[in-house]
Amino acid sequence: MITLIKRADIYGPEPLGIHDVLLVGDKIAAIGDNLEVELPVELTVIDANELKLTPGFIDSHVHILGGGGEGGFKTRTPEATLTTFTQNGVTTVVGTLGTDGITRSLKSLLAKARALTEEGITCFIYTGSYRLPLTTLTGSIMEDIILIDKVIGIGEVALSDHRSSQPTFDEFIRAVADARVGGMLSGKVGIVNVHMGDGKTNLDYLIRAVTDTELPITQFVPTHINRNPELFEAGIEFAQLGGVIDFTGNTDPEAAERDYGEVPFYKGLSRLQKAGCSPHSYTLTSDGQGSLPVFDEAGNLTGLGVGTSSVLLEEVKRAVAYGHPLDVPLRAVTENPARILKLANKGRIDVGRDADLLLLDKDLNLNTVIARGQIMVRDGNTLVHGTFENN
Ligand code: ZN
Repeated sequence: MITLIKRADIYGPEPLGIHDVLLVGDKIAAIGDNLEVELPVELTVIDANELKLTPGFIDSHVHILGGGGEGGFKTRTPEATLTTFTQNGVTTVVGTLGTDGITRSLKSLLAKARALTEEGITCFIYTGSYRLPLTTLTGSIMEDIILIDKVIGIGEVALSDHRSSQPTFDEFIRAVADARVGGMLSGKVGIVNVHMGDGKTNLDYLIRAVTDTELPITQFVPTHINRNPELFEAGIEFAQLGGVIDFTGNTDPEAAERDYGEVPFYKGLSRLQKAGCSPHSYTLTSDGQGSLPVFDEAGNLTGLGVGTSSVLLEEVKRAVAYGHPLDVPLRAVTENPARILKLANKGRIDVGRDADLLLLDKDLNLNTVIARGQIMVRDGNTLVHGTFENN
């Protein structure tokens, strides 16, 4: 697989100008001007003609096996397929179980991550589910992270939510400590993905962990941080302390803002900037394939939707339409998750990094998707389908 992309307007994610990019195998081999390549084998040339070239998106919170089930068995959501991701510009995924760690197993989650990897994208998982003590593959958090290549941390562990296991602080912090040391010993991040609910305690455990223990703030990524105004305020404080917060995208952020006080991603970005937070302090994920349960004030389930990775590009477009330069929302799905998750070959357009790339037109519609050097989508047409998808 050798591909030469000519005259692309590169966002690495910062704007880098118009250049050629050469891909060899699954890596970016060269970036330059008027690159000429003579080979004894076939060379694929893509004339980008000033389309925007960005890193492939990283969706680091996806229920790849399906999730949900909070309204009974029939509300368990379906598995993701390869094109769920590639047709939405996502080339790296982190899978997680969610509320249900009983009828969904970590063994199946690991197998699904391996399947998606075999099909051409990059996939990791978090071990555990909402509840503590954590369900694991091997019997211990440290062994899961150290011994299983795909496991990069734990989660999503639920806090401040009526669906959480209501762990004590000590119980929570012990799990975090195991994840940290497991990560250190395996050269991985060992991060804790924390599902934040609509409860009263917000980020209290995380702030207490940072102030009362030796654990660094980068050990945690609190997700769904924009689900209500109070939680988002706490999230800004967390980011001001040097933490990273994770927005959950929404297909209809205006309705969610009106109905639940959810903070739209594009407005949240402005709030973070105003609060002086680092441009590396935020990520955006889809909660893809997860159910999006709607509860009334008494905690009764009143409705359900299914998340999808398509929200990442939709939210990037909305942020640009709102006035943010492209690199500001783009960081949330490229460089920032790569940095916080220690995925050294992901998230940026640099020589030596993985050839995970997107071409976007002037309206930011997806034109081409390349995952580990393989062209998955070209000129809007899907070239590679998942094993059981209709071609
Ligand atoms: Zn969640």
